[in-house]
Amino acid sequence: MKLDRILPYARILLEKALSPGDYAIDATAGNGHDTLFLTRLVGNEGHVFAFDVQEEAIQQTKKRLVENNAEHRATLFLQSHDQLINVLPEDCKGKITAAVFNLGYLPGGDKSIVTEAVSTISAIEQLLDIMAVEGIIVLVVYHGHPEGAIEKDALMSYVTSLPQDKAHVLHYGFMNQRNAPPFIIAIEKRS
Ligand code: SAM
Repeated sequence: MKLDRILPYARILLEKALSPGDYAIDATAGNGHDTLFLTRLVGNEGHVFAFDVQEEAIQQTKKRLVENNAEHRATLFLQSHDQLINVLPEDCKGKITAAVFNLGYLPGGDKSIVTEAVSTISAIEQLLDIMAVEGIIVLVVYHGHPEGAIEKDALMSYVTSLPQDKAHVLHYGFMNQRNAPPFIIAIEKRS
């Protein structure tokens, strides 16, 4: 057999967590691949809330959704994900069963705009407050660029200190690959 690669494994986790009618978060919309993927999992009865700090990313995501007739299944916010608690509708709280963060910079875009530990961790904390129990947060951690290495260290320190009764934390990655390969952190909300 082949071991599941990083991006496919992130999607396997999201597929297991999401059913039609659920609410989901794409914390880093980027080019919209994950947002579109999530809309397919939640279907017409569910909804996806996607965040990005770049207008270019929001436009790309919108275009991808329109091309795939999925724009009605998602709401896009040109906001940092650490504002999610302030902008999500009240009625979705407690019903979000999955969130994904694809960290780093926009592929093909401005490499100086990157995710940072402070806002990433703040968003995770907010999600752990408002998600459904057994909801999962999937983070794909890219640490080959200098800010990514700093974010990775802060994230590892944060997630390993989460109390076991609050969350289960999974670490999935290949250990003998060259060039700081990306890896997954998945957090299951327990209470
Ligand atoms: N998931 C995307 C896709 O499917 O194409 C790729 C995401 S890309 C690796 C990372 C994105 O995070 C960039 O578009 C960047 O603008 C965005 N970003 C950086 N800081 C952010 C923040 N605080 N809140 C939301 N998005 C942020």
